[in-house]
This record gives sequence, structure tokens and C-alpha cells, in this order.
Amino acid sequence: MIPPGETIGILGGGQLGRMIAMAAAQLGYRCHVYAPEADSIAAEVCGAFTNAAWDDAEAMARFAADCAVVTYEFENVPVPPLAALGDVPLLAHPRALETAQDRLAEKRFVEGLGGRPAPYAAVDTADDLARAIETIGAPGILKTRRDGYDGKGQWRVMKPEDASALDLPGKPLVYEGFVRFDAEFSVLLCRGADGDIRFWDTPENVHQGGILARSNVPASDLVAAQVGEARALAGKVAGALDYVGVLTLEFFATAQGPVFNEMAPRVHNSGHWTIEGAVTSQFENHVRAICGLPMGDTALAARSVEMRNIIGDAAEDWAKVLSDPANHLHLYGKAAARPGRKMGHVTRLTLG
Ligand code: AMP
Repeated sequence: MIPPGETIGILGGGQLGRMIAMAAAQLGYRCHVYAPEADSIAAEVCGAFTNAAWDDAEAMARFAADCAVVTYEFENVPVPPLAALGDVPLLAHPRALETAQDRLAEKRFVEGLGGRPAPYAAVDTADDLARAIETIGAPGILKTRRDGYDGKGQWRVMKPEDASALDLPGKPLVYEGFVRFDAEFSVLLCRGADGDIRFWDTPENVHQGGILARSNVPASDLVAAQVGEARALAGKVAGALDYVGVLTLEFFATAQGPVFNEMAPRVHNSGHWTIEGAVTSQFENHVRAICGLPMGDTALAARSVEMRNIIGDAAEDWAKVLSDPANHLHLYGKAAARPGRKMGHVTRLTLG
């Protein structure tokens, strides 16, 4: 057990790290962020900051020496340099990082546990793509295997002829058949080192332009009917990875049942509603789990909850958001409001 007063290391300097650090501070922990960017919005709320490249082994070892446990808020942290952490525990286990960093490895892994992803094929060349489209059909989506997020590194193929116009990025890719889904949802769980798993209520998620726009809890009946099967898969994934902390799996709800989209080995945007909307938030339970403390209740704390992301220059409307006393405003402190950039979120609870 790592008692309050100790230091938690966080790899990655974005809003997820910021919210983990805020929950950790409430429990009496100190946080130390490690991030390659100098203007870290997580470091702003932490006691210590190492601003160094991922492969700076000396900086990584110095960071580790200050931490009782290390976690990550960014799933594209390169794994080999993490050897410099030495004996300091890294949770969740780096195997989860390795699996989630490669869309192909992730799909194969989840399939091996009985999950059903959209039909897919590995694509390295234009010939591979032509073959994949022939087998899987169009429409489909071509995605980079690594480093994609928020719809980045994705190209839609509406008809087979579109493929020839694509300028392949020279990186390993995966082609996925387009899923005709009725809704999207995610399974959010927290697993303790003792194997105990707690699920939060499942949010129904709406994406716009590949970016999460909104999460609603409870989900519609259509989604609710598929949650059991999706949770069973998520529980198997967590067990197979000997996972500790918050894990998220995203699904498409289809007429044939839940189709696995992707997993995130970390706290997730579709769980931000838990800060006010659940008895214990995803951030707090993540901290509790990685420190070996008992987990808090994940029950819904309202009749319904809605979380909306604040994207790009919508952040300028903060005063309007605050003019409604029912709104909980979260701004991440990012300086530049670029289009498509997550600047904050707003949560509304419906009580009684
Ligand atoms: P991803 O980053 O892969 O989660 O993609 C972001 C969003 O794009 C998803 O949440 C969906 O709304 C959409 N999307 C991605 N892959 C597919 C697919 N194979 N079929 C239909 N929609 C998809």
C-alpha cells in the first residue's frame, strides 16, 4: 500500500494528468509529472515537473527516484525507455500500453478473448489496401496502427475508387469495415491489485468529426441491452492484462450486438461525468487502485448526467456556461484554442 503523503508519478502532461493530480491531491498525495512539452497543464497543479524527452534515461531515472508509483495519462508513451523506471511500479502494467498502442495488436488481443471488432486487415502497401477493400468492402476507414487519436490519422474510403487517390503515409495501417451502428458507448472499469473490478454506469457517447462531443448516463435501452456482454469482455481484458487502475473499452451498439472499437489503458474522456455524477470519480478510483487503497463506490449520484466537451473556441463561452447554475464547468487551462482541441467540459446532473 502506498499511503497518502507519498508521490505519484504521472507520465504525460495533459488534462487527464491534471485531473488525476487533482484527485490525488484531495487524498493527500503529491504528484510529479513527466512530459516532453514545456507547457504542461498537468504540471501546473503538481508539486514537481520533469520536462524531458521520453528517451532521456537519466531524467526518467531521477523522476522514478522521487516516486512511490508511476502511472500514465497518455497511451502513446514509448515503452522501451520506461525500463529506466527500475523497481518503481508502473501501473497499469506496460503490457496494456503495448497492446493499446497498436490497433492491430489490440484487435487481435481482444478477438483472442472472444471480442468482435469490425472486420479489419493490416495494410502496408497500396496493393494491401486494394486487397483489403476487395475482401472487406467499402465504405471503410483506413487508420494508422499507431499514434492516432481524436480521429487523427484516419481516412474514410467511401467507395473502392477512393483508395487510388489516397496518399498512403508510409506507416503501418489497418483498414476497417465501416460499422453501421445504432449508438456508441464505453465500458469504464477500475480493477484493484486484488482483482476486484468496479464498473461505472455505461455512458452513451456521441462523436463529431471523430472527437467525443457528448456522453450521457444512463444510456438508452438499446445500449443498456448490450452492456452485459461488453462488460464481460472488458473484465476479461482487464484480467488478461493483470490490469490495475481505470480501463476503458469503446463499443459500437449494432443490431448484431456490441462491436469492439478500441481500448484505452487509462482514464477516459467518456468518464469525465463521474467527477460530479458518480459517488467516486474515475480519477479518484484510479489513484486509489494504483496506491492499493480500497476503491470507492462507482454508483450513479444523480438520475441522469450529461457531459459535453468544450472544443476549440467554444471555450470563450465560459461565462455563458456559468450563467446556468446547474452547469459544472471544467477548463483545462490550455492557452491556444485550436480547432478540434479539447479545452474543457461541462457536466450537468439531473437530480430526483
Ligand atoms: P477511433 O479513434 O478509432 O475511436 O474513431 C473515432 C470515431 O470515428 C469513433 O468513435 C466512431 O464514431 C468513428 N469510427 C471509427 N471507426 C469506425 C468504424 N469502423 N465504423 C464506423 N465508425 C467508426
